[in-house]
Amino acid sequence: MLKQALECVVRNSKGIIPSSSRRCMRRKDLCTKTHTEVARERAECVVIGAGVVGLAVARELSLRGREVLVLDSAPTFGTGTSSRNSQVIHAGIYYRSDSLKAILCVRGREMLYKYCSEHDIPHKQIGKLIVATGTSEIPKLNNLMNHGIQNRVDGLRMIEGSEAKRMEPELQCVKALLSPVSGVVDTHSLMLSLVGEAENYRTTFSYNTTVIGAHIEGNNICLHVSETKHLENWNGRSLLHPELVLIPDLVVNSTGLSAPALAMRFDGLHGGVIPTAYYARGCYFTLSNTRIPPFNHLIYPLPEDGGLGVHVTLDLDGQVKFGPDVEWIEGIDDISGFLNRFDYSVCANRAKQFYPEIRKYYPNLKDGSLVPGYAGVRPKISGPRHSTADFLIQGEEIHGIPGLINLFGIESPGLTSSLAIAEHIAARFLR
Ligand SMILES: Cc1cc2nc3c(=O)[nH]c(=O)nc-3n(C[C@H](O)[C@H](O)[C@H](O)COP(=O)(O)OP(=O)(O)OC[C@H]3O[C@@H](n4cnc5c(N)ncnc54)[C@H](O)[C@@H]3O)c2cc1C
Repeated sequence: MLKQALECVVRNSKGIIPSSSRRCMRRKDLCTKTHTEVARERAECVVIGAGVVGLAVARELSLRGREVLVLDSAPTFGTGTSSRNSQVIHAGIYYRSDSLKAILCVRGREMLYKYCSEHDIPHKQIGKLIVATGTSEIPKLNNLMNHGIQNRVDGLRMIEGSEAKRMEPELQCVKALLSPVSGVVDTHSLMLSLVGEAENYRTTFSYNTTVIGAHIEGNNICLHVSETKHLENWNGRSLLHPELVLIPDLVVNSTGLSAPALAMRFDGLHGGVIPTAYYARGCYFTLSNTRIPPFNHLIYPLPEDGGLGVHVTLDLDGQVKFGPDVEWIEGIDDISGFLNRFDYSVCANRAKQFYPEIRKYYPNLKDGSLVPGYAGVRPKISGPRHSTADFLIQGEEIHGIPGLINLFGIESPGLTSSLAIAEHIAARFLR
């Protein structure tokens, strides 16, 4: 698989070293220090990670005429955080106004609605109500409204509890902030469309392919690439052997939860520029035995430390889910992270904490109606009780390595922002 994909790059690309003149290097020259010879290939652009952000970046680069190779450790695209989220198209309310999160969320939302309409991706602009369930919460709601206005979110309106109840009879609140531009999207269809478009523009995908490290040679970053199957039974002690060294002109580290851990394996990248990774698990419960969803809008409480609060999300097929909560968890070792071995189990007992949270705004929630759904892990670069970090998009001007772009802390609203992150990268780094 790995070899086939790379042969394909060799065939298609202008700037690739022809196979006949491939050089070999001795692994003792690599940071992994072994003695076997390793084949080397040049590539124009390599995107590591086929989540929604990596896919959007690959599509954007290929639309701009670049030869792109996407590598992912998993057997297909979108198996990480991109398939473990709320699927909400965020308006852009919550984030500091000069932050990348605010700018890229607002721009990304506009781009996403347009993209979904033009490519028949299932989506719906159903609107959202952020609710204050007691008078003490009203100042925080006012702050959110001000943030939203500063961020140029259109159509925001503060409404009284009585008007909110007319819109949503099951809802209990004293005031609500109505955001008409919020919505939901079928993330899998979105990713499938991005893959298709990128392939049409000659992006090559190599799944089951893990980047295990890199080293720097002159102005080049040299990626150490291995087939995932060789890592699956790794004992954690022996040296890891790359099967290929890939030398791209441009490389985008879009590995989500693993981005800091992978960057730590880039020999020559100064450790001081790599942020500490924090992980916040979020579990979802679905509402059982409900033919008619109790709500028509997304319903959000006020945000909490680490997340947006246990909210109501409506799938496009009408399923109602509540979540995600916030549970700070320890990291796992880097190779396990590359293989996505995070704990995604949802313990039924957690429902005990969900009922009182949800009943603050949905008092008629029946006992026994919540069933475990799924979980996701937020790829954070700020920890508990820290102020929330912005997206961190690092290029040569930060770390000094030509052609390397690291994407750190691409948590929510990363799905909403994906197309704008790609546009931002192309505008900032393509010459
Ligand atoms: C609980 C939760 C709810 C969320 N809700 C929303 C929401 O409603 N709206 C919104 O806008 N955002 C939301 N988000 C955020 C959004 O899901 C993410 O920002 C987005 O999915 C990140 O995509 P990604 O491509 O950066 O990462 P991922 O989807 O995690 O993709 C990373 C890829 O890298 C691959 N990989 C890892 N290591 C390696 C390696 N060494 N070599 C090769 N490949 C590797 C993985 O296999 C994976 O496919 C939520 C996040 C969470 C956790």
